[in-house]
Amino acid sequence: MAFTLSGDDVCQATLPTPIPAPYWVAFSPSSAKLVNIPLDDFSLPIDQTWLEVLAGNQLNTKDHQFSNPISTAYSGHQFGVWAGQLGDGRAILLGDIAGQELQLKGAGKTHFSRMGDGRAVLRSSIREFLCSEAMYALGIPTTRALSIVGSDLPVRRETMETAAVCSRLAPSFIRVGHFEHFAALQNHERLQELADSLIKLHYPEALNAEDPYLDLFKRICERNAKLVAQWQSVGFCHGVLNSDNISVLGLTIDYGPFGFLDQFQIDHICNHSDQGGRYAYHRQPQIMHWNMACLASSMIPLLELRSDEKQAQEQLRSALETFPVIYAQAWQELFRKKLGFITAQEGDIPLIERLLQAMHDSRVDFTSFFRRLGDLKVDEPIEKNSLRDDFIDRELIDRWFADYAARLRSESSDDSLRQQLMNQVNPKYILRNHLAQIAIEKAQKKDFSEVRKLLNIFSRPFDEQPEHESYALAPPPNLHAVEVSCSS
Ligand code: AMP
Ligand code: MG
Repeated sequence: MAFTLSGDDVCQATLPTPIPAPYWVAFSPSSAKLVNIPLDDFSLPIDQTWLEVLAGNQLNTKDHQFSNPISTAYSGHQFGVWAGQLGDGRAILLGDIAGQELQLKGAGKTHFSRMGDGRAVLRSSIREFLCSEAMYALGIPTTRALSIVGSDLPVRRETMETAAVCSRLAPSFIRVGHFEHFAALQNHERLQELADSLIKLHYPEALNAEDPYLDLFKRICERNAKLVAQWQSVGFCHGVLNSDNISVLGLTIDYGPFGFLDQFQIDHICNHSDQGGRYAYHRQPQIMHWNMACLASSMIPLLELRSDEKQAQEQLRSALETFPVIYAQAWQELFRKKLGFITAQEGDIPLIERLLQAMHDSRVDFTSFFRRLGDLKVDEPIEKNSLRDDFIDRELIDRWFADYAARLRSESSDDSLRQQLMNQVNPKYILRNHLAQIAIEKAQKKDFSEVRKLLNIFSRPFDEQPEHESYALAPPPNLHAVEVSCSS
């Protein structure tokens, strides 16, 4: 398999800069299995060649040769403003392995580092590693994380921290920003090569369409619309939905100041640096739509190969208009499932919206509420329902529960079957910021056990894990406000 992107002007040969005395922080056995790398268990002998490779200190193992590592150029809109050229400032694509691209994040300066040091700190690497694998286990499309390798190399952020290299896997790391890059340079030849290679390697179905480029655009839109619906359904806030952080494969990519909702607040802002709340929870769908509009603009020259400018714009505009429709459909389907509905009925959406409004007003814990909702017995008297205690306005929520019970009866919902189905979509364990923070603080003292434990817990988010009950709880009040920012 070749890289999706080619051309010396955008793919710069880049060697990783070694880190001194690397050590394992964690690896994901499930990611390793995906690419047939022998990293299973810390209790078994570990192939230390991979430690050196994933640290960026060596390019070969006995079976693999990563002889042409590169970093790539892309551009993009950051916080709604055109930012010009960005590029892989600290990510190096080592090569491909078992159908996945292997990338090292934090492996030193590249051609695109600008003022940056090309490094990532242990703190942000742990967050990216854990969240990638947690998202995968939740069934949400994402880049995967393979490992974190640490070093005592000091790295300056707000304070002095230490370096780490996080290795990631994806069928392709191409972003909307790669399209924007060529469009901005008016390099239509490269733009077309990129689209052709994306179609060939990742969207071969598009070749059957009358205009494969239009079809490609529709498919990218569809994937990303469904992706955001999934984010909303688990309370995931990405934090920095700049167009350079949007995958054209519809994967969650570039975990920075992300956060899962604890208390449900519709306009929650997870990124401390996002003062205007551009990327607040409730804005994510419209922002993703906006990013798809950026992609559409970049693709105009491709559609012009078959039609005139006006027609090309019209085709893309009408394709773009399907985004909110696809999103709404996906969202409704997911929330119906969260509430345990099997059929779709009129009145479902207002019922779901009334619940979310009540949860917002009372700041109810998002994950644990939906999980516990599965325990409800349709015919139980309302006084026995402990969920009502989460709400300030009891009368209002009692009315809601009565309507909910009536709705369930209307499809003869069976308590135990419904619970079983709801537990498959409402996770019990979610990577809450305070849990990641505890693991980070231990890791900063060289105790990596908590990182590895969290990886384990979040790889089975829907399972009851009685031994880990405390990890399902909402944060205690003193740990509510773990602040995360763009600094990483
Ligand atoms: P992000 O907000 O992490 O998506 O990064 C935005 C841009 O800044 C990307 O082009 C990154 O490659 C670049 N960048 C972020 N941190 C660094 C760093 N420490 N060194 C070099 N480039 C960086
Ligand atoms: Mg980024």
